[in-house]
Amino acid sequence: MSEITLHDLEKQYGETTAVEDVSVEIRDGELLCLLGPSGSGKSTTLRMIAGLETPTSGTISIEADDVTDQPAYERNTSTVFQDWALFPHKSVLENVAFGLKMRGMSKDDRQKRARSMLERVQMGGYGDDDPTNLSGGQKQRVALARSLAVNPDVLLLDEPLSNLDKRLREDMQIELREIHEDLEETFVHVTHDQDEAFTLADRIGIMNEGELVQVGDPDEVYENP
Ligand code: ADP
Ligand code: ADP
Repeated sequence: MSEITLHDLEKQYGETTAVEDVSVEIRDGELLCLLGPSGSGKSTTLRMIAGLETPTSGTISIEADDVTDQPAYERNTSTVFQDWALFPHKSVLENVAFGLKMRGMSKDDRQKRARSMLERVQMGGYGDDDPTNLSGGQKQRVALARSLAVNPDVLLLDEPLSNLDKRLREDMQIELREIHEDLEETFVHVTHDQDEAFTLADRIGIMNEGELVQVGDPDEVYENP
């Protein structure tokens, strides 16, 4: 669980202002969706929270710590990307356990934790499989298990369901919502899909042309689109 404070965040790429004047307090344990059209700055905002991009100006705090100048590996965040990026030469279980090895966990504990994470995403029977043989939805479940395994303070999701077909996407929205309710961790979820945001979010932040133009409960932002 973690509260994140973004204060006057800005990101310039040469002449392009990708993100401008973004200030928001993301609450402990909430699922905040950043919703907006392609190019509105959602992904850049998420990558700055992850430490994968450095803001041009502004600050980012997680809990009471100013992490603005901290490299990604020192922040206890974990990111799920649109393209699942699993290691093809490792089993499903090894993929999920990978991040735990870097944290110095024993082999037994790594396997135990990885198995329990695979069960949580309904992939308990697939530990020994080669990830290249899985369907898109299964790969994304494994990617989610891998991100959750390290027990991050904050889970960052960058269009994680966008490559899935509509039916599966809708099923996984509900599953993701259940996982979030179960864990009570802070999730920041980027999407351009309005239905997805309304299915998932505790609160929605609407982005447009680099700015966060509105933040509110789904029923509030729905009334003032
Ligand atoms: P979204 O996630 O809402 O689609 P992005 O954050 O990816 O938006 O992009 C916001 C703007 O910043 C876009 O105009 C995009 O082209 C630009 N942008 C993003 N990343 C880079 C980059 N690495 N270099 C140059 N421009 C970028
Ligand atoms: P997303 O789909 O998450 O918004 P994009 O597909 O826009 O991400 O960007 C993928 C990668 O390309 C990112 O690393 C981003 O920084 C980079 N990128 C995005 N837009 C531009 C751009 N206009 N010029 C250069 N790099 C870009």
